[in-house]
Amino acid sequence: MQVKKKPAERVHGPRSRSKSTTEFTHPVTAKVQALLKRKLSSLGMASYMTENAALFGSAADDVLQAAEKMKHCGGWLMFREYIETGKVRLLRANFCDKRNLCTMCDAANARRVYADLVPKVLSLKAEHMNSYMLTLTVKNGSDLLGLIDQLFKNVRRLWNRKKRGRGNGPFRHVYGMVVFLEITRNKITGHWHPHVHCLVTCLPGRWIDAVEMRQEWFALTGADQIDLKAMKNVEKGMLEIIKYMLKPGDLYPDGSKNAGNSLSKADKVEAWHLLRKKRLRFSFGAYQGFLSDSLTESELDGDYLDWIARWVAGGYSYWQERTGSIEEAKRVV
Ligand SMILES: [Zn+2]
Repeated sequence: MQVKKKPAERVHGPRSRSKSTTEFTHPVTAKVQALLKRKLSSLGMASYMTENAALFGSAADDVLQAAEKMKHCGGWLMFREYIETGKVRLLRANFCDKRNLCTMCDAANARRVYADLVPKVLSLKAEHMNSYMLTLTVKNGSDLLGLIDQLFKNVRRLWNRKKRGRGNGPFRHVYGMVVFLEITRNKITGHWHPHVHCLVTCLPGRWIDAVEMRQEWFALTGADQIDLKAMKNVEKGMLEIIKYMLKPGDLYPDGSKNAGNSLSKADKVEAWHLLRKKRLRFSFGAYQGFLSDSLTESELDGDYLDWIARWVAGGYSYWQERTGSIEEAKRVV
C-alpha cells in the first residue's frame, strides 16, 4: 500500500487559501483548493445578483431566489479518498444546481462529463474511430431562444437524415456525437451569438467532409462559418469542447481582449433566465447515456477514507470522517 503524507486533521479556510502550497500536497487538499476558487466565484455572482436584481425587471424574484440558493452552494462537501491509489472523488455535496449560472455547479458537472466521456472516446479510438471537434454557429441576433431553436433543429435534422438510413448528409459516417451549447454576446451590437461545440466520432476510416458540411449548414441556416478539427489528443480536445462550462460570468472583465465577445455577469443572468427550462446539450448514437447531469463523481472500488469539508467563515474547513470499504458502504445502503 502506498504511504501518503496526511494533512492536518483540520485545515481552516484562510490557511487553505494560502499561496504557498508546499505544505498542502494531500489530494483532498488539492481538491478543496480547486473547489474554493469555484465557490468564491459563485459567491461573487450571487452578490452581484442580490445587489442588481432590480435590473432584471419581471425576472427579479427568480434572480433573488437563485442568488439565495447559490450563496449556500457547496456549503458542505463529502470526498472519498481511495487508500490504494490516492485518488479522491467528490461523492456528495449540497449543490444549488443553478446550471449555467453557478460556477461551482457548472465546474462540477464539467468534471463529471469529462470523466465519463474521455474513456468512451478513447475506447472508440482504440477501435480506429477518430473523433473531431465541430463548431457550428448561426447568424447573430437578438432573439436568443429563436437562434438556439434554429441551431438545435438543424443539428437534429442532419442527424436524422443520417439515422433514417438515407445514406446522405455530412453526418452519414458519424457513429456518435455530443452537442454542447455555448453562448456569447457581442458587446458592441448587443447581439447574441449561440453556437454548438460538438464531439463527433466517425466510423473506422471515415470522417466528415468539411466542404460538404459547410455547404449543407449554409443551405440550412444561411451561416457559413463552421470549424472542424481532428481531435488528436482526446483529453485536450474534450477540455476544449467543455471549457465554456468552466467560464464564470466575470472571467473577462470589461477591457480585456476577450471582452468584446463574451458574457458579462448581466448577460449570464439574462441568458440563464431565458433558458433555465431548456435542455442545452444532447448526445446521439454511441454517446447516448454517457452525458451525465450529475454534479458528483462516480465511485471507485477499494478501501477508502471519507472526508467532510464545510464552508466556515469564508473558507473550507475539512476533516477525516471515517474509514471503510466498498463492501461496508453497500451494507449501509
Ligand atoms: Zn451551485
